[in-house]
Amino acid sequence: MAEKRTEIASLGEFGLIDHLTRHNEVRNASTLLSIGDDGAVIEPFGKQLVVTTDMLVEGVHFDLMYMSLKHLGYKSVIVNLSDIYAMNAEPSQITVSIAISNRFSVEALDELYEGINLACDRYGVDLIGGDTTTSQKGLIISITAIGEVEENKFVTRSGAQENDLICVTGDLGAAYMGLLLLEREKKLYLENPNVKPDLENQTYILERFMKPEARRQTIAWLKEKKILPTAMIDISDGLSSEMLHICKQSEMGCLIYEEKLPIHDDTRAIAEKFGIAATTAALNGGEDYELLFTISANEYEKVKECELFKIIGHITTADKGKYFLTNGNNKIELIAQGWNPIKN
Ligand code: ADP
Ligand code: MG
Repeated sequence: MAEKRTEIASLGEFGLIDHLTRHNEVRNASTLLSIGDDGAVIEPFGKQLVVTTDMLVEGVHFDLMYMSLKHLGYKSVIVNLSDIYAMNAEPSQITVSIAISNRFSVEALDELYEGINLACDRYGVDLIGGDTTTSQKGLIISITAIGEVEENKFVTRSGAQENDLICVTGDLGAAYMGLLLLEREKKLYLENPNVKPDLENQTYILERFMKPEARRQTIAWLKEKKILPTAMIDISDGLSSEMLHICKQSEMGCLIYEEKLPIHDDTRAIAEKFGIAATTAALNGGEDYELLFTISANEYEKVKECELFKIIGHITTADKGKYFLTNGNNKIELIAQGWNPIKN
């Protein structure tokens, strides 16, 4: 049976906006006026506001052949919330702008908004506006997130000090393995559409790629323990690249230990199958959305047992360089391989 397909044109632009935002609710006291006017109104009540934007372009940042619209909606919100947490702020509002072609039906956009709404609901964020426009073919999503932080408690990339502990949440490299698995299946499918996808029960790594989460628990834990990181960044382009950002902006060096890198067993297993060193995936694989931060060594006793993050090294002075110590005791200079989601 063919799926129901409602053309966007049958609703018109305003009808579509009403339709997509029909379940919208306000969750935060700071949202004074939400969707429906020329602008939204926010009252920060003595807090400072953090603002961040990310744009995702079909064919560049995502591929609808292996990413459902619901996952895409969810992930586009999460990548922005992750940036807000990386500033040590609490996300409160987002705006969502989309450029769409008539390739997409109203039902397809409903799926996208299901994912967007789910993320808003789970993270207690209000959708307070956006823009809807036409594109020739592909889908473009631009999300702006706003977050609240207590006065001067925001954390930048530039405050790391000598001897600070380098910490990372969760585990690394899984999202990259998920992407490789999906790319392999896409290639096989294009060669022969009758072949059933073999995703090898890799739920964990596939979810890490398709449905990442932002590390709000870590921000809440640090706040509860009254620990203010000296520098912080979220990992979207791989640990190496983000560590170098902190070092550059803090004018410091670093030493990271291979044996301390948090890597999930599933990531190791699939990396081995693909003939990639799990360490390489952890250092250079992108889209993990873990938090990388530095804290004073004086906090060691407080953090050593915390299960939300691991200490992977320490900050040195700039003249000591930026290094990675392998399990074989080789000191290798950290370089940013970067992360390019589209490699053909
Ligand atoms: P204007 O012409 O003044 O820019 P619009 O007609 O574009 O207003 O938007 C009307 C309302 O709907 C505004 O509050 C706007 O922020 C909101 N809005 C528009 N597009 C979207 C969207 N894709 N998702 C959520 N809200 C939207
Ligand atoms: Mg508009």
